Amino acid sequence: MFRAGCFDNYGFVPRDSFNREIDYLRLSVIDNCNLRCVYCMPLEGLRFLPKDELLTPAEFETVVRAAVGVGFHKFRLTGGEPTVRLDIVEIVERLARVPGSDGLALTTNALLLPELAPALKRAGLNRINVHLDSLDPASVERQMRWGSFEKIWRGILAAEEAGLTPIKLNSVVTAGYNESDVVELARLTLKRDWHVRFIELMPLGGGECARLSVARYVSNIETRRRIETALGPLTEIPSDNAADEARNYRLAGAHGVIGFISPVSEPYCGTCNRMRLTADGKFHLCLLNDDELDVKKAIRSSDGAIDKIAEILVRAVRMKPTGHHLLEGRSTHDRSMYQIGG
Ligand code: SAM
Repeated sequence: MFRAGCFDNYGFVPRDSFNREIDYLRLSVIDNCNLRCVYCMPLEGLRFLPKDELLTPAEFETVVRAAVGVGFHKFRLTGGEPTVRLDIVEIVERLARVPGSDGLALTTNALLLPELAPALKRAGLNRINVHLDSLDPASVERQMRWGSFEKIWRGILAAEEAGLTPIKLNSVVTAGYNESDVVELARLTLKRDWHVRFIELMPLGGGECARLSVARYVSNIETRRRIETALGPLTEIPSDNAADEARNYRLAGAHGVIGFISPVSEPYCGTCNRMRLTADGKFHLCLLNDDELDVKKAIRSSDGAIDKIAEILVRAVRMKPTGHHLLEGRSTHDRSMYQIGG
């Protein structure tokens, strides 16, 4: 059995070479998506992974078992759009039954949740984050393309009804698209106990979406000012989770929470606790960096897969870089957000 120093049972958390505890694995299950958000996926020229390159449900389970064995305990499924995988319920079922995990979350655009939410909940999913850039149907159509506000909204309500709570909404603030829609999104928290979070644009992959992400960037300082001007002051909610990438606030009398995720204006690399697994079986060491370690070969080898995977994961943790270079104009070149798993 593989022994990685102090990482060989559930009581320890692996640390990287910057002494950060890395215990959160985000698993991308597919690179394809049923939306084409302007800052994420171009309308043309896309090539997706062939089916046999994608890890299977059993292979994801093997990785999660190995990860728990070296001290990981937080897991999230993402993509692409994870719900477009026909076997997403089986993936959830397999991962949810791995002992030692603190629960399983999913990031989604919610379009397919009216049909899937109850089955996902029954399979063991605990929480979802829904990506919704605006409450204005015309704005959603223009920014997220292919989808519709009504369908996404129905998906969110289905998730809430199924008990996939707390509901967290993520909006990527994009100049010329939704920067003034943030007020109505924030207003939602007055009536609902949801978390509404505003994300700053990041350029990834070097293509047209990366260029748009630079040109249309809106700082969360500006987004916060816009919300406070319209809805009154925000009071900070002290966090008991140092690795939470959001800074959280509440409007007076609100039931819900407003969060700001500000990788550009207020980087949080120092408290990063994440490792990523791409849908084609690479540990991607940092969202904003191209470094990867292949794990698929070990997964698909016949002997001792779990031990080998654990060893590669510990190596990936040790090699994890820190600090992004967005302000110097450097980001990923090889993969875009939808190919890494946002
Ligand atoms: N399909 C799912 C969804 O829509 O949430 C999961 C994958 S998506 C790549 C994950 C998150 O990445 C979404 O909240 C999306 O808005 C965000 N995202 C994509 N491109 C981005 C960019 N250039 N800058 C910041 N966030 C981005």
